[in-house]
Amino acid sequence: MTTTTDLVSYEDALASYDPVMGLEVHVELGTATKMFCGCSTALGAEPNSQTCPVCLGLPGALPVVNATGVESAVKIGLALNCEIAEWCRFARKNYFYPDMPKNFQTSQYDEPIAFGGYLDVQLEDGETFRVEIERAHMEEDTGKSTHVGGATGRIHGASHSLLDYNRAGIPLIEIVTKPIVGAGERAPEVAKAYVRELRELIRALGVSEARMEMGQMRCDVNLSLMPKGADKFGTRSETKNVNSLRSVERAARFEIQRHAAVLSSGGTIIQETRHFHEDTGSTTSGRVKEEAEDYRYFPEPDLVPVAPSRAWVEEIRAALPELPLARRTRLLAEWGISATDMQAILNAGALEPIVATIEAGADATSARKWWMGELARSANESGTSLDELAITPRQVARVTELVTSGDLNDKLARQVIEGVLAGEGTPDEVVDKRGLKVVSDDSALGTAVDEAIAGNPGVADKIRGGKVAAAGALVGAVMKATRGQADAARVKELILEKLGVSE
Ligand SMILES: [Zn+2]
Repeated sequence: MTTTTDLVSYEDALASYDPVMGLEVHVELGTATKMFCGCSTALGAEPNSQTCPVCLGLPGALPVVNATGVESAVKIGLALNCEIAEWCRFARKNYFYPDMPKNFQTSQYDEPIAFGGYLDVQLEDGETFRVEIERAHMEEDTGKSTHVGGATGRIHGASHSLLDYNRAGIPLIEIVTKPIVGAGERAPEVAKAYVRELRELIRALGVSEARMEMGQMRCDVNLSLMPKGADKFGTRSETKNVNSLRSVERAARFEIQRHAAVLSSGGTIIQETRHFHEDTGSTTSGRVKEEAEDYRYFPEPDLVPVAPSRAWVEEIRAALPELPLARRTRLLAEWGISATDMQAILNAGALEPIVATIEAGADATSARKWWMGELARSANESGTSLDELAITPRQVARVTELVTSGDLNDKLARQVIEGVLAGEGTPDEVVDKRGLKVVSDDSALGTAVDEAIAGNPGVADKIRGGKVAAAGALVGAVMKATRGQADAARVKELILEKLGVSE
């Protein structure tokens, strides 16, 4: 068995092998109630307070399908360009695990509700890669175990385990790709871009917040290698429950290097599940993977088949919102920016704040400038994301308005933003409290201009001699004296007037 230290370099791995990936993403739907009972799905409740005979698997309890869950599945299927089954069933996936009180998971097996679609994803350089979708099916989440007493929080070394069934039965959609081939060295990037695009899509559809850090969306990364030029897939490993975009990319990259090390030393890859570790960026062996037949799937006898009418499906299709890629393409054209600019905006998590700021009245250029400049820097320094900053898009729009009207210049605007972020109030309140207004009143500026001329006689002479460009030095002196609050354009006019020069 190989250890995590047996890796070959990424470049060497790609020189000999082609990676093949399969991505399985689980999305927890944001329905108010569970998939097969009326229990609440709200987070943070007392353990086991949101349970009933159905989700606890008590004998004789009968499940009922959540219609909103089915509708969400259809929305996701349509947005992924899938066909929607005219008739499909749930199936029991039988296995024993303490977090699943029924001893089976209600899932779908050979009759998924959606199948045969694709999702176009955009890579860092703006290039588009098409990921084919095998299927999207409905199922339910399991409960949650907590292992107490050990050092690592894992079951090994724990003195006892606690079970919370509040999550058991929350609707999940599992979206499975077809094997992703041909991505070559960009495979890890494709994996990350796919999960990101899928997350944006899920959010745009309004079916889930898809917050990966909260487990509302998690990705299993299947990976195998085949020798360059071969067409038969190698044995795959399945890295389970990867829960951030960055980790998806790192897990794929690590597995490429690990597989290459095993294969090139004459070893064989074991089909198994693996765990990804954030701290080291490596994966370790989980359990040997079961085959589908080990689960003894059979159609769920307690639920009626799901047969979405064509009219209903078309109604849902017609009501789909503008999808993320189409929207980004439209905004890119409207704002006149490049694919790279858009990628930077996405990476910074600035797209929604910018759009909201424009909707609140700012022009696109200013909205982009502040969110990608001052505010991105601020978020970076405080280690938060843009949407967690203590400033709203409406407030940013107000700042841009004050700049446009000439009440603030960029330097003062930065101070206003700093004040809002520090909790000093709205932009207008910060302007008042800090006394941040552009001074354009001639009597107030006159003295500062006179002092700047008197303090820099050499510069004044040059200007008198026709070297108008030298006025910049005097404008700078006035700005400094007024702590940046002077109207720079008016200051320049006053200097030239006083020196008897015209531009
Ligand atoms: Zn229940």
